[in-house]
Amino acid sequence: MDLLRILTQTPSVPGREFRIRTVIHDYIVRHQLFDEITVDALGSLVGVRKPRPADGQLVERPLKVMLAAHMDQIGFLVRHIDDQGYLRVNPAGGFDARNLFARGVRVCAASGDIPGIMNASGKPIHISSEADRKKIPEVTEFFVDCGLTGDEAKSRIRIGDMVVLDGPFHQVGNTVVSQCLDNRVGCWAQIQAIQQLRHHRCEIHAVWTVQEEVGMRGAIPAAYSVDPDIGVACDTTLCCQTPGVPDEDRISVFGDGVCLHVMDNSMISDIGLVEQFEQVAAARGIRCQRAILPRGGQDGAAVQRTRRGVRTICLACPIKYIHTVTEMAHLSDLHSYQALLTAWLESLS
Ligand SMILES: [Zn+2]
Repeated sequence: MDLLRILTQTPSVPGREFRIRTVIHDYIVRHQLFDEITVDALGSLVGVRKPRPADGQLVERPLKVMLAAHMDQIGFLVRHIDDQGYLRVNPAGGFDARNLFARGVRVCAASGDIPGIMNASGKPIHISSEADRKKIPEVTEFFVDCGLTGDEAKSRIRIGDMVVLDGPFHQVGNTVVSQCLDNRVGCWAQIQAIQQLRHHRCEIHAVWTVQEEVGMRGAIPAAYSVDPDIGVACDTTLCCQTPGVPDEDRISVFGDGVCLHVMDNSMISDIGLVEQFEQVAAARGIRCQRAILPRGGQDGAAVQRTRRGVRTICLACPIKYIHTVTEMAHLSDLHSYQALLTAWLESLS
């Protein structure tokens, strides 16, 4: 869990992925997980691992598998600094304004990280009317207060600096809770799966992509460049098994294993791959479940539609309270995620 903790505590919003890329890069170099490592023009990190068959023989024309986990998180970029030192921010990714009140934030400036708090304009409870209290502001109505004067803020912070919500990583019962489990869980599963691999006949191109949260912008050129035979997007999905949500809208079952994303708003997974993963899971005693997400998309859509088209599937970890600073993942789903990915890669001939 140490690796997942570090991944979730490293701020990196769309277009500002340099910190998380450095963490992943250093880890995969230190553990010698790949034969080649490159970074593309948009900033996606690509690790290539040649076949390592059990018999040690050369594999002619190995199957090329692309794994894609987006490494960006939803966050903000500073868009305005006023004379009183308040920052206005532009969202990069889909926030629900109801989760933004009274949040601690971190402004990542060139001069260093600056703590702040986020709130919406309006009066405190003591002096607000009932009508005031029912109103939910737009995301763009929130501001950041770093406790600095206008001059101090303007000298230390620049337009375009990233801002992330602060939230600790901790274990709660049988779960882990943190900000940005979407999608540091996918980044983690990709690393873990490669680390557990012994022998495999396929050629693996593991990509940690940029800018997924603003529309799969990094995965499009990455997929074109890798030109894979099979694509596997590694992401998260909703688990709405919570009070007030009808059972038919739960999307996934918490603790029942990694999801094989049958379909979402961006793509329909290759059904042959879904069945292949199910067979590997059954043979190895690993839990997995099918899930359909009516809205939302992920990098698999970009991989699937590159060049002449690619058979693609999305693996996703069920997450409760997604896109908040208290995203929650079940420990057994994390375990099944990396175990199934490893077992499937080993099973390819
Ligand atoms: Zn995601």
